[in-house]
Amino acid sequence: MSLTERPEAAAGDKRPSFPVRLSPHAGVPSASKKSTNATDAFKPLPLKHAVQGLQKPLPAGVGLDSQAVRTRMVEKLAKQGVQDAAVLAAMGQVERHRFVDTALANQAYEDTSLPIGLGQTISKPNVVARMLELLREGKGERLGRVLEIGTGCGYQAAVLSHLASEVYSIERLRGLHEKARENLRHFRLANVHLLFGDGMEGFAKGAPYAAIIAAAGGEAIPPAWIAQLAVGGRLVAPMQTASGQQALVVIDKTAQGIRQTVLEAVHFVPLKSGTN
Ligand code: SAH
Repeated sequence: MSLTERPEAAAGDKRPSFPVRLSPHAGVPSASKKSTNATDAFKPLPLKHAVQGLQKPLPAGVGLDSQAVRTRMVEKLAKQGVQDAAVLAAMGQVERHRFVDTALANQAYEDTSLPIGLGQTISKPNVVARMLELLREGKGERLGRVLEIGTGCGYQAAVLSHLASEVYSIERLRGLHEKARENLRHFRLANVHLLFGDGMEGFAKGAPYAAIIAAAGGEAIPPAWIAQLAVGGRLVAPMQTASGQQALVVIDKTAQGIRQTVLEAVHFVPLKSGTN
């Protein structure tokens, strides 16, 4: 595996290599260089464009009309209550079927979670949309730097790339980290940085983050995540509650302190420490 490999970075681009590793020499821009040029960055398409996109031919063997099926998925998400047009547009753009095994491609746009290997799952579209909507709540513009814990197959990172200036995504299972790298190669998303490591420690070099999102749930929110969240930033994660059930938790970091809101019950894979 080449650690220096990177997509089509512009000349003079100081972004870290792709993927980067959690090492002291990863070359990630320091917090003081936090991107402020959000307006130069990609703007999500308005929903009507996202859902009327080109009818792109699918790879051989995938027996569905990708854009049309995605449009239906987005319409269904909107009916289920997802209101954020930027989230809907991003989900209308990202070809979800490219992130699952070919044998499962025809289920990629159904409201179901799917296995992605090594005992892990890609969340159902409704849950991805809900979490991204929560993450963006009240933010009309593009998010700044975002940290994702649990890259999995890379799908949610790809959606996030349309909603944030930079996405740092950590995975603790090397097999999945590499699978995500393969999956994402096709999309050439220069603002997605894949990291292999224990996401419970966050990724201090990219901090502070405007938003942090976790796709795996533990018994508590790791202190590193709170420490690495910017003041004014928001964290969305599954967490085990007092009743022993998992629920979605939203944490807002304000100048006055931390505000935690516990929302609906969810079923995410466990947050585990260490790498494998
Ligand atoms: N967002 C992903 C969902 C992957 S499932 C997607 O779109 O596919 C959650 C992932 O979290 C799993 O791949 C699991 O290995 C990973 N995970 C669990 N604990 C972790 C940790 N401490 N650090 C990084 N990743 C972790």
